Amino acid sequence: MCKNRAPESRVILLTPQGNRFNQDKALALAAQNKGLILVCGRYEGIDERAHNLLADEEISIGDYVMTGGELGAMVLIDAVARLIPGVLGSTESFQSDSFMDGRLEYAHYTRPEEFEGQKIPDILLSGNHEKIRLWRKKSSLQRTFLKRPDLFEKTALSAEEKQIVRQWCRELETLARE
Ligand code: SAM
Repeated sequence: MCKNRAPESRVILLTPQGNRFNQDKALALAAQNKGLILVCGRYEGIDERAHNLLADEEISIGDYVMTGGELGAMVLIDAVARLIPGVLGSTESFQSDSFMDGRLEYAHYTRPEEFEGQKIPDILLSGNHEKIRLWRKKSSLQRTFLKRPDLFEKTALSAEEKQIVRQWCRELETLARE
């Protein structure tokens, strides 16, 4: 696609010097409902005049340098396309994904019920939707706290989340006393 055939489209230069790509940026690009023109560099990058004259935005997919922008473009296309209505089965498919509410997603299990001595938590097999919802919330909070404390600190806890965290602290205290 070129700009004169799709004048509304947004021109994005892939460069390690750009704004870091993340889920919020993917959501914003998916919501703008315009085409995207992704410009990929090679070798030393893209002529500075293209940066000045063509680009609406510069995006980096992370703090490392690749040989060319093509893989970055694929990352961006995949992450944005799955947020466009109709691409996944339902919008719920991504609502609970990691980063959608500033947390990592809860743990997932599939069959069999027991594998190499590890069982699926009983609550998940109980059929009690409210208990399952709370279990997932707790799992999501625990994972975020342990794996991404930076994210955990950034997003304020709701009243329900505070309750879950207090309960988790009590469980830890009990464990520590045993
Ligand atoms: N010399 C440039 C610098 O240090 O900033 C790096 C050029 S890199 C070897 C060649 C091309 O790969 C870039 O123009 C860009 O399109 C792409 N590229 C490399 N790393 C990237 C990243 N982290 N994010 C997005 N694009 C990247």
